[in-house]
Amino acid sequence: MAHSRKKPFVCRQCGRGFRRTHIREHTKGKNLICSKCREDFLLKSLVIRHQRTHLL
Ligand SMILES: [Zn+2]
Ligand SMILES: [Zn+2]
Repeated sequence: MAHSRKKPFVCRQCGRGFRRTHIREHTKGKNLICSKCREDFLLKSLVIRHQRTHLL
């Protein structure tokens, strides 16, 4: 598995790879982080809407 295109962002804080930056997980606004995939969002409403995709 040489390719990791699905996780282009490598977090400078924890060194893990993510599809998007999740820097808020290390700062504030943890309620804006998806508990499933650790993506972060600007609005809580976006997190809720996003998390529905995990239920499909
Ligand atoms: Zn991190
Ligand atoms: Zn998610």
